[in-house]
Amino acid sequence: MSFSKLGLSQHIQDTIASLGYETPTPVQQQAIPLILEGRDVMGGAQTGTGKTAAFALPIIEQLSQVQRPDGAVRALVLTPTRELAQQVSKSFVEYAQGTELTVELAYGGVSLNPQIKALKNGCDVIVATPGRLLDLLFKGTFDLDALEYLVFDEADRMLDMGFIIDIKRILKRVPDSRQTMLFSATFDDAIIELSNKFLNKPELIEVAQRNTTAAQIEQIIYNVDEDKKRELTSFMIGSKNWQQVLIFVRTRQGADALAKEMCKDGVKTQSIHGDKSQGARDKALEEFKSGKIRALVATDVAARGLDIDDLNYVINYELPYIAEDYIHRIGRTGRAGNSGLAVSLMTIDEEWLLEEIEAIVDEKLPQAWYPGYEPDLTKKSSVKKNSKSSQKRRANERASGKRQSGSNQRGNGGNTGNSRRRR
Ligand code: AMP
Repeated sequence: MSFSKLGLSQHIQDTIASLGYETPTPVQQQAIPLILEGRDVMGGAQTGTGKTAAFALPIIEQLSQVQRPDGAVRALVLTPTRELAQQVSKSFVEYAQGTELTVELAYGGVSLNPQIKALKNGCDVIVATPGRLLDLLFKGTFDLDALEYLVFDEADRMLDMGFIIDIKRILKRVPDSRQTMLFSATFDDAIIELSNKFLNKPELIEVAQRNTTAAQIEQIIYNVDEDKKRELTSFMIGSKNWQQVLIFVRTRQGADALAKEMCKDGVKTQSIHGDKSQGARDKALEEFKSGKIRALVATDVAARGLDIDDLNYVINYELPYIAEDYIHRIGRTGRAGNSGLAVSLMTIDEEWLLEEIEAIVDEKLPQAWYPGYEPDLTKKSSVKKNSKSSQKRRANERASGKRQSGSNQRGNGGNTGNSRRRR
């Protein structure tokens, strides 16, 4: 399959060829012709599968054929985070080279005024986070009355982050005649409900099996004690000479503390999280990309949407409380066909989280001990064990769809009940 078969104009084909794209990825092969036909699309594409081009190219193709009416905003892409918004808008700008199309960005955490100024005459494409978009709409900077295309990017994450009310408010302000596309790495009932309400007979594209991790990513779980995690992290990075390692932690304070300690270990590290200013985040990302720093410690929210070429290593310093985050985290590596390694460091108290992850990826992940960092087997878990009956209840709920896989509904404690496996 080549790009010439998808119904894109020669100009756009030349642009993507100049970016080094030779063949369309599976999500592009399926989505581009459908979007060009005017169909609503619901795409279950994993992170790193090329989904941005899958919706951006046909939108650009169609927008570039008709002049924008004065003041109109013609396409809106909603993303959960500013980092993803920046990434998507950058891709739009690249793909729209040589056209007259205007692409604008709107996200929170920075001053409103420059965005108001840039947007007061509308634009062809706006990439925005929901809260800031609403601020601008409420201020009357522009309206969405002429909107032709609406894209929800990483819709599952938008719902996880509690954006549903904002999304409903936005949807009240867009015309019914629009074409809508929804992309999500994972699907659950809330996403299906959103699509039933707001998409018009969508065509379902499932490039990979739902809720699965990318096949080209090698995954390993090391059983390790909490007080050895940092030393093991620095040791692995140093002894294996890993460059550009993205490390996930659960909290902002944890991110700062780990980055500081790793610097003391001689591994140049920065942290990136929601308490940092946009400038500080951009700088950390730039230094990471350019190789000035070797490791970047991130919280899930901050890491969302980072597209870093050639990232080979992800370390889950702590397993995520929301199991779907595991898929998003490790999807930072193994992009566009590259291979990747995802290492998770798991204490005995985190074993119940692995159970949640294994349930949604539907496979047992390999566990091992790292030589020299074997866990102390005399230690007992401080997490209260789940009874067999509550484990069974959760499995039944999951199977019947009552329980969202990965949601943290464990009440006062839970454990896999698995004994620690010796490798
Ligand atoms: P995405 O899933 O949209 O974040 O894309 C992941 C990465 O794949 C980005 O770095 C894109 O530039 C790249 N990419 C997208 N489509 C193609 C393609 N057809 N061929 C090669 N690389 C691509």
